[in-house]
Amino acid sequence: MQLISVNCPNCGAPVKIPEAARYVKCTHCCASLEVSREGNAFNVDLIERIEGLEYQIETLRLQNELERVEREWMMKRELHLVRQKNGRLVEPDATRAIVGGLALVAFGVLWIHVAISIAASARGCLPGILLILIAVGLVSASAWRIRKYTAALTAYKTQRQELRNQIQGCEERSR
Ligand SMILES: [Zn+2]
Repeated sequence: MQLISVNCPNCGAPVKIPEAARYVKCTHCCASLEVSREGNAFNVDLIERIEGLEYQIETLRLQNELERVEREWMMKRELHLVRQKNGRLVEPDATRAIVGGLALVAFGVLWIHVAISIAASARGCLPGILLILIAVGLVSASAWRIRKYTAALTAYKTQRQELRNQIQGCEERSR
């Protein structure tokens, strides 16, 4: 996700927004902004600013949203976790796949070596080759799981940080 930097027309603070976003909230003053694009330039218009008590209402709304995002992540996270033998859920990790993969490759190579040098059979190599292919599959599957989990985690952390910034900005202004 590409971020662009603009200045809030209400408070002047720099705001980072996703390039594709059309409506955003200033993370500093909570003003609603509309972003339009003209060629390479971005134009930001103030739609609505909030004042006084509205900041407290906005703070509550944002806190609810933050709780919802955190709750959703707790559920989403479970889908990415891997259950260990002892029943514990842990973040996906490549160590086991790599160790297991290396063992399979070593065994596969040994098998091929024996098939060729002792049995002198090309067809006898097949189980060895199969073991090496299984090892490659095992490690790729693990890498894919880790990549998916990392992407989901990063998206969650970005969203959470953004909400926390907004809440902080709102709270400072409601005092
Ligand atoms: Zn602002």
